[in-house]
Amino acid sequence: MKRNSIVTTDWEHCFICGTTQNLQEHHVFFGTANRKQSEKHGMKVPLCMNCHTGPNGVHHNKELDIRIKQLAQIEFEKNFSFEEFMKLFGKNYR
Ligand SMILES: [Zn+2]
Ligand SMILES: [Zn+2]
Repeated sequence: MKRNSIVTTDWEHCFICGTTQNLQEHHVFFGTANRKQSEKHGMKVPLCMNCHTGPNGVHHNKELDIRIKQLAQIEFEKNFSFEEFMKLFGKNYR
């Protein structure tokens, strides 16, 4: 698992529920163009299979998706800037 994330330094636990089982890498901004930017800027978090692609996981749960994006945006702005965030991802989640 790649660990160049600006959102978290803890890759031993699921970002949402804290479990250590079945962890996968989630690109906070997914979709063809966004995934590349997520990779480039370290907008990634570890999620367990359940919180990732499960029925209530981030890929099926809009609320959870927004929550993670919001946290990622805050971290992004600490490392880069709000202007850069808007340029890259085009939407304010805060
Ligand atoms: Zn989890
Ligand atoms: Zn994902």
